Amino acid sequence: MSFAIGLICRECGETYPSEARYSCDFCFGPLEVAYDLEAAKGVVTRASIEAGPLSMWRYAALLPDPGEAPVDLGAGWTPLRRATRLAEVLGVKELWLKDDTRNPTGSFKDRVVSVALSSARRLGFTTAACASTGNLATSVAAHAAFIGWPSVTIIPSDLERSKIAMTAIFGGTVLGVEGNYDDVNRLCVELVAEHPDWAFANVNLRPYYAEGSKTLAFEIAEQLGWRAPRQVVVPIASGSQLTKVAKGFNQLFELGLIEGDAPILYGAQATGCSPVATAFAEGADVVTPQRPNTIARSLAIGNPADGPYVLDEVRSGGGDIGSVSDDEILECIALLASTEGVFAETAGGVTIASLRQMIRRGTIDPNESIVAIISGHGLKTLDVIADTATVTATISPSLAAAEDALRVSQLVAAS
Ligand SMILES: *Cc1c(COP(=O)(O)O)cnc(C)c1O
Ligand SMILES: [Zn+2]
Repeated sequence: MSFAIGLICRECGETYPSEARYSCDFCFGPLEVAYDLEAAKGVVTRASIEAGPLSMWRYAALLPDPGEAPVDLGAGWTPLRRATRLAEVLGVKELWLKDDTRNPTGSFKDRVVSVALSSARRLGFTTAACASTGNLATSVAAHAAFIGWPSVTIIPSDLERSKIAMTAIFGGTVLGVEGNYDDVNRLCVELVAEHPDWAFANVNLRPYYAEGSKTLAFEIAEQLGWRAPRQVVVPIASGSQLTKVAKGFNQLFELGLIEGDAPILYGAQATGCSPVATAFAEGADVVTPQRPNTIARSLAIGNPADGPYVLDEVRSGGGDIGSVSDDEILECIALLASTEGVFAETAGGVTIASLRQMIRRGTIDPNESIVAIISGHGLKTLDVIADTATVTATISPSLAAAEDALRVSQLVAAS
């Protein structure tokens, strides 16, 4: 049973029932899902959660009502792994990786889509849609296929081939727009007006969609043995994930499920699309849009909807936001893989490179616990590493040739 009680305007506090609505009639501010946490106190306990399914739906009490049953392709409940070898390289004491590469379609977007489409089904929708930088489209197409819905996913036409293939294979309609994500998003806002009966996961279903990201915080706390880490590094595209990770931890504190201080949140962006990092560094309250130009396509939103809320969240906690080059992203994809056996897409490279940057400049405390969210699988962005991640040597099928090559890579002693 869900303790969600409706929608509330994030700007003026006006309340609405749990319907398909995403902006406030009075001030046009964005809406979010509200909960009756007083009623949940003592009912939602560590034990009640631990008795639930081994999926993100163990937190159903703190998510929007999914109706009869959630649309559950198996999102969430991903491993939280202690990263001792990477911690040593970075010079920190306690580092954990939240490995969201391990979702059904290989990215954290499965969490938000599972919630969005559950709410959409409860509200009577029968078609799934979205504006996407790639991973959302893949996840919407997969979840729609799973429940037998048609899907319309809209992406920039020049995305990574693997992301386009991973979306198209599910059989929905995929529209490639000649433009960037901000063009795609603008188009989708117009389409919502024409097709109000389509569930655009991140547009007209956005309040519900966004709630899915809270499960990252819930799982991190539970997997740490019901405690909050001191510091969490979160990649930023629209900024929704970061603000909802904060909301997730706050709800656990309010319910008394964890104690102590709220974690300090840190953001991660690619310099080629870093409007939030720039505003943060300049002390600005408004986020000036930027034309994206980075290999981190999944984070390439030049005009992020939740940018100002991210600034509030990171500033109020005393955090920081990293901004890293494409070279650093590539270097840190390899660093993560070679130290921890985790293969991340470019967004994961952004997170690790930003973590390293903020440790170096002293805004992340190396002696306190750190969780880094690794939000997408490396197979999604194979193109960017394909030229460098290749065979060590190409040899003829003879023992001598093998031994020669192994001597060069120093696995066999020189004779
Ligand atoms: C979408 C996405 C994010 C973050 O998205 P927000 O819009 O900020 O919630 C992070 N990593 C990956 C891989 C993504 O696809
Ligand atoms: Zn309002």
